[in-house]
Amino acid sequence: MLELVGLNKRFGDLTVLHDIHLRVGQGELVFVIGPSGSGKSTMLRCCNRLEEPTSGSVLIDGADITACSPRALNKMRLNLGMVFQGFHLYPHMDAVGNVMLAQVKALGRSKDEARARALEMLDRVGLRHKSDAMPSALSGGQQQRVAIARALALDPKVMLFDEPTSALDPELVGSVLAVMKDLRTSGMTMLVVSHEMGFAREAADRVIFMDGGVIVEEGQPEAIFTNPQAERTRAFLSRVR
Ligand code: ATP
Ligand code: MG
Repeated sequence: MLELVGLNKRFGDLTVLHDIHLRVGQGELVFVIGPSGSGKSTMLRCCNRLEEPTSGSVLIDGADITACSPRALNKMRLNLGMVFQGFHLYPHMDAVGNVMLAQVKALGRSKDEARARALEMLDRVGLRHKSDAMPSALSGGQQQRVAIARALALDPKVMLFDEPTSALDPELVGSVLAVMKDLRTSGMTMLVVSHEMGFAREAADRVIFMDGGVIVEEGQPEAIFTNPQAERTRAFLSRVR
């Protein structure tokens, strides 16, 4: 369970997040939409303190990541799996090596244990047969699925996705969304920033619309997409459709 409590973020004079309250329940998929610059990425990055919140708290299963010591922080970060638009795989390592690395370095797993877990996770994203392929030999969609396997291998409590399909050719988007749908079915708690409205309709429990660093509106996908209450939401949806 992930909870953002009164989260604020300023860069100098610029307020990017203003008093964000958001709860992602166990096994829930919360989907975030909003115009460019509205603070979506900053909100995700504040969750694991890649960006330091100016004030407010982020609770992961009740533990406050914003109030922990630097030493505890590294451990707490492992509870949050993060998947970005770019895949950030190590180019000189094959797929299984990429999925093993943090398991060995951050969790202290043995190489054998990490390899077994990596193969299991590659299987889960449909890439068991590509385990010894180098990233350059994989399509963008396959690279993103390796990145998802890498995050899952660390046994996170929550998965954060920041526009995971935005860098992909349209024909590769489906394979990544299918993996995300499968994760949702298996009960993973997920916070997803994306423009894939069709996916939101099928898989999201709730949709959040952000603008100017505030949550303007939230509700079930069908309600937000067919009957948005706020004028700003209506204007945004009419632009992106
Ligand atoms: P997009 O849809 O384009 O990804 P976003 O909703 O993810 O946009 P953010 O990347 O969170 O938006 O940015 C929110 C605001 O914060 C923007 O005005 C941006 O310029 C500003 N911002 C983000 N990071 C920094 C930074 N490190 N220093 C100063 N300003 C920043
Ligand atoms: Mg962003």
